[in-house]
Amino acid sequence: MHRAKGVEFKLGVQVTEPIMAEGRLSGIRLMDGSAVDCDLVIVAIGTQPVCDPLGAAGAETSNGIDVDEHCRSSLPNVYAIGDCAAQISPYAGGKRVRIESVQHATDQAKAVALTLAGTPTTYDAVPWFWSHQFDMKLQTVGLSSGYDTAVTRGDPQTGKFSVAYLRDGRILAFDCINNTKDFMQSKALVKVAAMLPIAAIADASVPLASLVASG
Ligand SMILES: Cc1cc2nc3c(=O)[nH]c(=O)nc-3n(C[C@H](O)[C@H](O)[C@H](O)COP(=O)(O)OP(=O)(O)OC[C@H]3O[C@@H](n4cnc5c(N)ncnc54)[C@H](O)[C@@H]3O)c2cc1C
Repeated sequence: MHRAKGVEFKLGVQVTEPIMAEGRLSGIRLMDGSAVDCDLVIVAIGTQPVCDPLGAAGAETSNGIDVDEHCRSSLPNVYAIGDCAAQISPYAGGKRVRIESVQHATDQAKAVALTLAGTPTTYDAVPWFWSHQFDMKLQTVGLSSGYDTAVTRGDPQTGKFSVAYLRDGRILAFDCINNTKDFMQSKALVKVAAMLPIAAIADASVPLASLVASG
């Protein structure tokens, strides 16, 4: 889709240096010796959570700050939320995961605020993610890693479809492409790890909401 829109990918080629002209950026040099003209560079190399301060203070850490279902760290009265919090998730097969999304961070914050205010609140929201790329709306519910079966709903050629991911017959996640209806309705199926016939999932004429009771 990106290529069709004119994006050129150069894979396996590292950037070696910026090319400057009269004090301004005019391009970048690549390791293969070629150059790309440009006046703007966006460096997108990901992020890493900063766990060192709490780790140094004695908090248990793994891939992040280890927290329980209330987002409590192993240190008394210290909570961790958002990108740095590593929590056991029912949506990751009981594994400890860090989830990097705005919704996740704000939902954990709400749960912790309630807990601190005297209403112990467990954080167990279904993870979801979104991205807009050109005119394509990508929305994901759940965590698909570890799936053994992928089922397509709808015709990808139309630009509107979904993909359901299952493990051992149970729904793990949905990727919804320009398909907000499936996105909204699939949360309930992911929440209960519904077990449904493949044919029912694949039939895009059947609303996912109508499958909730049978799953
Ligand atoms: C390029 C990019 C694009 C993204 N796009 C999306 C998107 O489209 N949708 C989505 O849901 N998520 C997106 N994310 C992820 C999202 O931004 C993060 O999941 C979210 O911001 C996490 O919130 P947070 O509060 O845990 O951490 P942050 O927002 O990173 O906040 C942590 C803060 O702690 C501060 N800090 C660090 N160390 C210390 C210290 N020792 N003392 C005091 N302060 C400290 C940092 O400066 C920072 O301000 C994107 C992230 C990146 C990098």
